[in-house]
Amino acid sequence: MSERMICIGCGVTIQTEDETKIGYAPPSALERDPMICQRCFRLKHYNEVQDVSLTDDDFLNILHGIGQADGLVVKIVDIFDFNGSWLPGLHRFVGKKDVLLVGNKVDLLPKSVKHEKVTRWMKQTARELGLQPRDVFLVSANKGDGMKEVMVAIDEYRNGKDVYVVGCTNVGKSTFINRIIKEATGKGNVITTSYFPGTTLDMIEIPLDDGSALYDTPGIINHHQMAHFVDKKDLKVITPKKEIKPKVYQLNEQQTLFFGGLARLDYVSGGRRPFVCYMSNELFIHRTKREHADELYERHLGELLQPPRKSYCDQLPPLVAHHFTLKEPKTDIVFSGLGWVTCHEPGAQVIAYAPKGVGVMLRKSLI
Ligand code: GDP
Repeated sequence: MSERMICIGCGVTIQTEDETKIGYAPPSALERDPMICQRCFRLKHYNEVQDVSLTDDDFLNILHGIGQADGLVVKIVDIFDFNGSWLPGLHRFVGKKDVLLVGNKVDLLPKSVKHEKVTRWMKQTARELGLQPRDVFLVSANKGDGMKEVMVAIDEYRNGKDVYVVGCTNVGKSTFINRIIKEATGKGNVITTSYFPGTTLDMIEIPLDDGSALYDTPGIINHHQMAHFVDKKDLKVITPKKEIKPKVYQLNEQQTLFFGGLARLDYVSGGRRPFVCYMSNELFIHRTKREHADELYERHLGELLQPPRKSYCDQLPPLVAHHFTLKEPKTDIVFSGLGWVTCHEPGAQVIAYAPKGVGVMLRKSLI
């Protein structure tokens, strides 16, 4: 192929030689307009993904490229999985460039939550993680909430320069950019979106009307998210689609909560107190006595305790215990990609279990 052809879905250079490598399209697809690689084609029409991944080195190269370029960086995080979707290395590359921090999927937070409180929390947490954003926004790229404000801010801060949109996979970056395109040009659904992490490859350039461009950068796969440990159907169960209804459990010491069969929280000591669970409304939470928990898990994983469904239990890594003593007045125990449990008042001892490899951490309460 003499001319470099780009997939309109993910931005990858199209090749027709190797079906197993990224950017493959059958020769017949070259006639299609707009051009789309096989992977995006499948995703779009059959809702299935092919396993193509970006290595950490490739991603570092991309960040390095952004570091060298002059422009505004728009960093998107998933507010439902803030820490899991944070790009830890970014601040080392951005230098003095302005960064706007956008928390997406705000539609998932309970309506009673004050947005100012969340943006304050985001600013403080960003600073603690080494990033000093110029401004912070909450949006729902799906629904469009907050998008106008971000678009105005992008236009103001970019000052005629290019815009680089970065974010780890599944934060909703494609949805965010699609919406900008739609608002700006009236065309919808230019980039593929899906339930699956890792669907935007290579930089895709979207021309802005003054000759600058908005670049969609590929998302790095965050291996600590629960999404990588469950299958397609189960992922639908754990991915919240609408406003989360928090579930409150008044726990006595030595009680256990199971989150399907994917995670578990043991309340060891600290007297009777509430635990508020922020997870997909469809995820089944089961309370039991701690002394019965091991046996229950062994006997009922994949049945009473699901997801994972029975046929996928073998593929779930064993649960690993994380011991914590809670010190803040309000602490979130976060299971990356699954949600979090807020514990009120300091002093509780808990053990949080998640499949080996899934991130579990404490943070100052978001809500
Ligand atoms: P990308 O990998 O970062 O490009 O993410 P996508 O745009 O493909 O979105 C990943 C998933 O998040 C999809 O299932 C989207 O439907 C969902 N999503 C994107 N934006 C929002 C949002 O504002 N709210 C909610 N609830 N889900 C969203």
